[in-house]
Parts: sequence; C-alpha cells; structure tokens
Amino acid sequence: MYPEVSLFIDGAWTPSAAGKTLTVLNPATGDALGTLAHAGRADLDRALEAAEKGFHVWRKVSAYERSKIMRKAAALLRERVDAIARLLTMEQGKPLAEAKGEAGAAADVIEWFAEESKRAYGRVIPARADGVYQLVIKEPVGPVAAFTPWNFPINQAVRKISAALAAGCSVILKGPEETPASCAELVRAFADAGVPAGVVQLVYGIPSEISEYLIPHPVIRKISFTGSTPVGKQLAALAGLHMKRVTMELGGHAPAIVFDDADIDVASKILAASKFRNAGQVCVSPTRFLVQEKVYDSFVEKFVGFAEKVKVGDGLEPGTTMGPMANPRRVAAMETYIGDAVQKGAVVKTGGKRIGNKGNFFEPTVLTNLNRDMRVMNEEPFGPLALMVPFSTFDEAVEEANRLPYGLASYAYTRSAKTASTIAAAVESGMMSINHHGLALPEVPFGGIKDSGYGSEGGLEAIEAYLNTKFVTQAGL
Ligand code: NAD
Repeated sequence: MYPEVSLFIDGAWTPSAAGKTLTVLNPATGDALGTLAHAGRADLDRALEAAEKGFHVWRKVSAYERSKIMRKAAALLRERVDAIARLLTMEQGKPLAEAKGEAGAAADVIEWFAEESKRAYGRVIPARADGVYQLVIKEPVGPVAAFTPWNFPINQAVRKISAALAAGCSVILKGPEETPASCAELVRAFADAGVPAGVVQLVYGIPSEISEYLIPHPVIRKISFTGSTPVGKQLAALAGLHMKRVTMELGGHAPAIVFDDADIDVASKILAASKFRNAGQVCVSPTRFLVQEKVYDSFVEKFVGFAEKVKVGDGLEPGTTMGPMANPRRVAAMETYIGDAVQKGAVVKTGGKRIGNKGNFFEPTVLTNLNRDMRVMNEEPFGPLALMVPFSTFDEAVEEANRLPYGLASYAYTRSAKTASTIAAAVESGMMSINHHGLALPEVPFGGIKDSGYGSEGGLEAIEAYLNTKFVTQAGL
C-alpha cells in the first residue's frame, strides 16, 4: 500500500547511490510504514548537474509549451487525488477529507501558475532619444533549491515547484522526510506530464547536510524555504553570504481579533474550524484569540463547544475531523507548553492531554487566564491549542497583536467597516482575513513580515521571486 519512496534525479526514480534509507512512521499508530531513499553527496552532485542541464533546456521551452505541460500535470494530479490523499493521511495523519482537499488544491495551484507563466511580461520605457528602445526583460533566475516541511507535504512543495517552473527555472526540492510519499506523487505528476529530465529533482536526507551543500553551491541561484523561524534565519544567513535570492515562509503566532460588534456565532465557528484543521499544524493557524470583554465569555463558551465536538482519530476512519499530530515531537511540545502555562496560572477550559499511548493523538485544547510570561504566549505552538485573551480597547488589541516578532497571518471579526479598515492597517502582518477565512489561494499573495520571513508564495509576486530583471537599451542602426 505504502510505496518505497525513491529520489528523482535527471528524469529517473532512483535509490541513493550509497543505498541508504530512512524509515517512515505512521503517526496514528507509531508503526513503520515504509522507507525512503536518503541522498548523500554523490546524489546531490548528480541532482545539481541535472538541474543545471534542466535549466538550460526548460528556459528555452516557450511559455505556451511550459504552460501546456504544467496543465497536464494538474490534470494528472486531479485524476490521482484519491490514491494520493490516502498516502498523505497515512504518513501525515490529517483526515482523508483534508488530504483530498490538499491534493485537489495543488492542482489549482499548478493551473494558476501555468496560466501566469504566459504573462511574465517585461515593459518598454519611453526613451529620451529618437530610435532608442529601452526594454525591461524578465529572465528566469536559474536552478532553485527548495526546502519544504511535513505539515502540508504537497501544498508547500507545489507552490515552489509551480512558480519556479512557470518562470522557466529548474528545481531541486528537498522534500519532507517524515511525509515523503505524497510529495513524491506530486513530482510524479510533473514527470508524467512531460516535464523534461533535469527540470525537477526530488531528494530527501539529512536537512542540514543538504541545505549546507546546496545553498552555497554555484549552480543554485535561488533558495526557497518553508519551516521554522530559527532554521529560516540560519538558511537566509547562509544564502546572504553567497548572495543568493531568497524566499522565506516561516512561523507565525496569528492573532484573531474578535470585536464586540462581531457575529459571534460566525466568528467562533470559522475560527475554531481553522484552529483545529490539520491539528493546528498550520503556519497561518489562528493562535491568540483576542476577544473584546463584552463578548469574551460567550465566544469562549461557543469555541469550547466546537472543540469538544471535534472527533479525534485515525485520519482514514470515516467521521474523523482531527487526526494525530504528525510526529511525537509535537505531542511533547504541547505537553511542555500546557504544563508551563498551567504552572503559571492558566486554566484548561477543555482538552490539555495526550489521548492514549499509541499514535500522536492530542486533545483539542482551549486555555484561558493567560499572561505574557507563559512560553506559549510567545512561541508558536504549532498544534491544537487555542489561547483566549480578553481585551477592552482597540489600541490594547493592536498592542497585543503586534507584541510578538511574528507577522504572518492575522484575523479580525467586526460588523463595522471603519473598524475593519483601521484594524487591517494597524496590525503588523503579511496577511489579514476579515470576517471569513480567505487566505492561501493561488492567485493572492501569501507570505509574512518580521520574523515570519519575506517574499510571497502566491499571486504575481510568487513568480516575480523566480525572475531576474534585465534592462536592455538599444539604439537604431
Ligand atoms: P525544525 O525547526 O527542526 O524543522 C522545520 C522544517 O525545517 C522541517 O521541514 C525540517 O526538515 C526543516 N529543516 C530543519 N533544519 C534544516 C536545515 N538545517 N536545512 C534545511 N531544512 C531544515 O522543527 P520541526 O520539529 O520539524 O517543526 C517544528 C517547528 O517548525 C514548528 O514549531 C513550526 O514553527 C515550524 N514549522 C513551520 C512550518 C510552516 O508551514 N511555516 C511547517 C513545519 C514546521
């Protein structure tokens, strides 16, 4: 059922040259699912050589042809959604419906970037002299090293591969070692659609070994990383040392601000659903729920009611609405954060504990009576933990929202148009969703500011990140 996952280099699925493998575990049982090939230096050298060759091939393929191949990849992915979603649930834990949603949304991402590849326009600037043409030309930046994590094994990878391919770049993707098969199926869709050999490489191994080798390597011209802020800072520093273009999509600690004029039924329902999606292991997950005093009690009560209805279980079981956490590290992190908060005075309104002793299941948890000395109020929990914080004035909410160094997603609920526009302007974040959950579509920018990183993984900005701008001025002969 679960495949032996190989590396993909120069158009061929291959074991590692040294024959090394890693074991993949099922987060719902802790049992071994299968193995994946583990790249060493020889494999990385082959991947670099292939990516260089692939870049020279792909950049010469017309945007129309690139777009056609990419749309075929999207169609193949759609045909295979059911099978891929099962692999994703087995290795990552999320409920099958969420896994299907992720695979299907990836096809939308590929299609959107396929269309945009035809519109990577330059421009003509009026010249000061007769017969002179001033041209702004967009060129692909070159071979890309991309690093993606385990929380959305398909979706984090598809944004990088699609934007790079749309721009005419080749890619070496270091996929997520803990959840490798669904990411490999994404790459298979591109390969089967006719992406030439060398344009997309997929490797797995020891993340630090791979990044330390690829980032400084002269073949690589652009780095894109999704993961934690501490790792992102290290990789951005290394990229800076070697003057490489960088996109960093890092952690968050999203404030969700609920004003007392909001529709509390709608706010609690949408925010709780997005809190517990993927067991909270989402960079844009709402985390600090800043709720205006007048509606605080009723919001918390409704939110807790929702949390208590979440059905935690194996993602393959019908009816499961929240799967296990993706790895035991996250369970340990939840226990640490909750223990620290409770010891400093927090109240557990619901949840707070691991479920059973097999698999990485954790209860949907709501904490109140929080203060700023608690670790969880400062560090990204990346789990099913909701922090309820009352506020009285607009300025108090803004001060708390902007207190942390993170600035990825933010949310607000209000019936006032004035409050909506003033809160959107006041909160320091790369994205804000007001009165609904509307982030992460392929056509809109996706990215953070401050310690949450820089660059965008959606919208026109995402392709721009893989393009160089060249200025050419030409006088008539
Ligand atoms: P981690 O910080 O060790 O790893 C995070 C990701 O970075 C993983 O995919 C890992 O493979 C990769 N990574 C780690 N060191 C690397 C290196 N030297 N070079 C290249 N890649 C490297 O932590 P973790 O336990 O895997 O995840 C926990 C934390 O990571 C969470 O608390 C969360 O903040 C963050 N995270 C964020 C996202 C996101 O979508 N932004 C996704 C996954 C994890």
